Amino acid sequence: MSQTTATRRLRRHLHFDALIRLARKRFDTFPEQRRCPSYPLTDALTAGLALFSLKDPSLLAFCGRALDHNLYSVFGLPSIPSDTQMREILDEVQPDQLRPVFKDAFRQVQRGKILEDYVFLEGCYLVALDGVEYFCSKKVHCDHCMTRTHKNGTVSYYHQMLGAVIVHPDFAEVIALAPEPIQRQDGQTKNDCERNAARRWLKQFRKDHPHLPVIITEDALSSNAPHIRDLLDYHVHFILGVKEGDHKYLFEQYQQRLEANQVEAVHEEDAATGASRSWLFVNDVSINESNQEVLVNLLVYVEVDATGTTHTWAWVTDLTLRADNVQQVATGGRTRWRIENETFNTLKNQGYHFEHNYGHGYKHLAEVFALLMLLAFLIDQVQQKCNALFQKAWDKKGSKSALWETVRQVFAAFEVSSMAEIYQGIAFGFKRPTLKILIDQAAESQNNTS
Ligand SMILES: [Zn+2]
Repeated sequence: MSQTTATRRLRRHLHFDALIRLARKRFDTFPEQRRCPSYPLTDALTAGLALFSLKDPSLLAFCGRALDHNLYSVFGLPSIPSDTQMREILDEVQPDQLRPVFKDAFRQVQRGKILEDYVFLEGCYLVALDGVEYFCSKKVHCDHCMTRTHKNGTVSYYHQMLGAVIVHPDFAEVIALAPEPIQRQDGQTKNDCERNAARRWLKQFRKDHPHLPVIITEDALSSNAPHIRDLLDYHVHFILGVKEGDHKYLFEQYQQRLEANQVEAVHEEDAATGASRSWLFVNDVSINESNQEVLVNLLVYVEVDATGTTHTWAWVTDLTLRADNVQQVATGGRTRWRIENETFNTLKNQGYHFEHNYGHGYKHLAEVFALLMLLAFLIDQVQQKCNALFQKAWDKKGSKSALWETVRQVFAAFEVSSMAEIYQGIAFGFKRPTLKILIDQAAESQNNTS
């Protein structure tokens, strides 16, 4: 068997239909807590995944779908729950149980050799971490909502999550890992915070992937001593943004080294664009005055564009900076934006309705819906990366929103046996019934009724 045939076969496990089957298999292992379940738990979870895969604008729209052949053939759903039923069932699901579903998909990505493409530097994968708010309301709230009291005394209830995605500067697609909720913890009266969520995320991440070599990249809010200690404790490398205004002591050390001529530098002139670029770096500086023992390496990247405008970025890292790796480290730091752009903005603006309230529940519903949506996004991203039929269908429709719209139309209009058939139909067209047959059928029904 040739390498390509083997890879193609492995990649079939990464196609939409295979990943849906894999998720269902995992849902089947969830313990049933209800005494007399009126609707199976696996089906309720799969219905949630189907809702976000089809990207229906509301739960009512999904539950109002005519019970059809395709819900069974594509998602294995023999029936659709009512919206109330679905909310009640999913509200009771412990969100932690969904973590292995992300891991299952990740394993397939690894087996299908997709992950290999994402090796970024020194054999490590680049993981972007960032917090995002996905729910906010002045009325609706649950046991896990955080609260924000405004100046006028009104209270907002909100949920956030710490998203984590494997990114690479050469690819638009990201591979989502299980996120960590930033929300009120069981029995707590205080709000949660991103730093605590990051600590929980690291612990879980190392449980799920004990040996995965990664470099975590985050924004400047993360560049504090306790968080850096956590990152080192969990054996992950890091490239974290820093700002001169927020990291005064760090930049004073940099300035002193500059004056003493102890800062190394790499320069590059770009003849094509007229820009000039410099990477200036020092190893072993303290992150701040009160944590002198937390040593980091500082990289300052300065770009002067053709108009003479200067742009400066800076990061701290545990990777020893050398003339031969500083360009790649800076690229890693700048690739962080993919979690905002390719992940959160896609979820908000490209048909996933990330901030739409599909139902909030009393316990876990808001979080379970957010996780199922992220799972649907992960499956879609894998299609975008390695499914030629998906790529062709997307290309034909021109935009994600147009593709999702057409998937919904085809799903409603044709009997299909799989999502692959839908992508195929969008990409290459369907065999439509001829007009002659339609006329004959119409005439026959006319005769029957007269
Ligand atoms: Zn809530």
